[in-house]
Amino acid sequence: MNEDCIFCKIVAGEIPSDEVYQDEWVYAFRDINPAAPTHVLIIPKEHVVNTNELRDEHKDIAAALLLAAPKIAAQEGIAESGYRLIMNNGPDGRQEVMHMHLHVLGGARMQHPMG
Ligand code: 5GP
Ligand code: ZN
Repeated sequence: MNEDCIFCKIVAGEIPSDEVYQDEWVYAFRDINPAAPTHVLIIPKEHVVNTNELRDEHKDIAAALLLAAPKIAAQEGIAESGYRLIMNNGPDGRQEVMHMHLHVLGGARMQHPMG
């Protein structure tokens, strides 16, 4: 746990969050400032800053992040209608919270930054 990290505090229960899913590796909760009708953040329980820090020993974490997405989509009723998975990395990637997280966005057709 990183004492200065708000997402580590969320995993530890020190900051309240609206839980959507969890397993051995990841925790998922609703974004406090939703950008879509469904906006869930999936984070590793272990503090990892972003994909730059991923190493071979993080295979379980990396897989668990992605594998949680379809489970959450099914739970939220957006599996068939569709959803976007976004991971922001570093300053140009517009990462604001420096604990790796995968955004799950659904419930409405969203603008696409790549057209
Ligand atoms: P980023 O820009 O780093 O990819 O996204 C960070 C996300 O975390 C933002 O969408 C923001 O609304 C969300 N967020 C920041 N602080 C909190 C918090 O304390 N609780 C929850 N539930 N979401 C947060
Ligand atoms: Zn953290």
